[in-house]
Amino acid sequence: HFEARLQILDAEDGTRKVLASLRDISLRVEAQHQRDEFISTVSHELRSPMTSVKGAMGLLLAGAGGEPTAQTRNILEIAHRNADRLVSLIDDLLDIEKIASGNMTFNMERHDIGALIDEAIEANGPFSRRFDVTIERDGAEGGQVFIDFDRSLQVLNNLLSNAAKFSPAGGKVIVACRELPEAFEVSVTDHGTGIPAEMVPKVFDKYAQVGAQRDGPVRGTGLGLAIVKAIAEEQGGCVALDSAEGEGSTFYVTFPKPAAGDPGPVEERQEK
Ligand code: ADP
Repeated sequence: HFEARLQILDAEDGTRKVLASLRDISLRVEAQHQRDEFISTVSHELRSPMTSVKGAMGLLLAGAGGEPTAQTRNILEIAHRNADRLVSLIDDLLDIEKIASGNMTFNMERHDIGALIDEAIEANGPFSRRFDVTIERDGAEGGQVFIDFDRSLQVLNNLLSNAAKFSPAGGKVIVACRELPEAFEVSVTDHGTGIPAEMVPKVFDKYAQVGAQRDGPVRGTGLGLAIVKAIAEEQGGCVALDSAEGEGSTFYVTFPKPAAGDPGPVEERQEK
């Protein structure tokens, strides 16, 4: 593997120099490859025991070992929440790995954008209640898009949970939908911390994080938005961001409309 660089330098006397360099980066590429492979193997190995730990905590919380005392419940809840965080972190690592290796599969079908938005808001209920944030839909536009429904839900979930996480207590998050010629654009607006201007171009990069968050123990990984961007783009959409520090942020994501002949969901097709 080689890395090529071309630099054009304009001198003051009007002449122009071109510098070309070629560097052997095989070792770096190989090291990166080994690191990715290691993360992937470890993530796979960790996922099932961690899921089982989380499940066990859930059973105890549900009273499988007798009704827990308030103190036991409190401890179990903390353990359950942390097990849950670990499973999500592992899932994010596995998704990043699938994206990098081109192995993420997409089950593209026609769906109603309104149904997707409603389901995402519904799924985020517990999370936004925890942060004492309300999520509201502005308008009720609908229309057909051609997407992988579950992956698109993951995209909106990520944006909604970030919006809740970075909002002040009692805050409101607005989800709107706008029809464009070739796509529907969904926007998620919060009036939270906002993102410093110099970080705005970077937040969709892997592992990008800005300073501290309101709820210390719910620290993220900086992987969520990288996954959002990759999924949106794989489906033929794109992402964008408007943010002002101290005022809030609006994240935009587009979901393409179907072309003539694109299939609907499997259940619908079987009904016909
Ligand atoms: P994380 O898992 O750390 O939240 P993300 O990729 O989802 O990772 O986000 C990357 C960083 O972008 C976050 O750490 C945060 O600093 C910033 N960010 C994302 N969404 C928002 C938002 N709605 N308001 C303010 N900052 C945000």
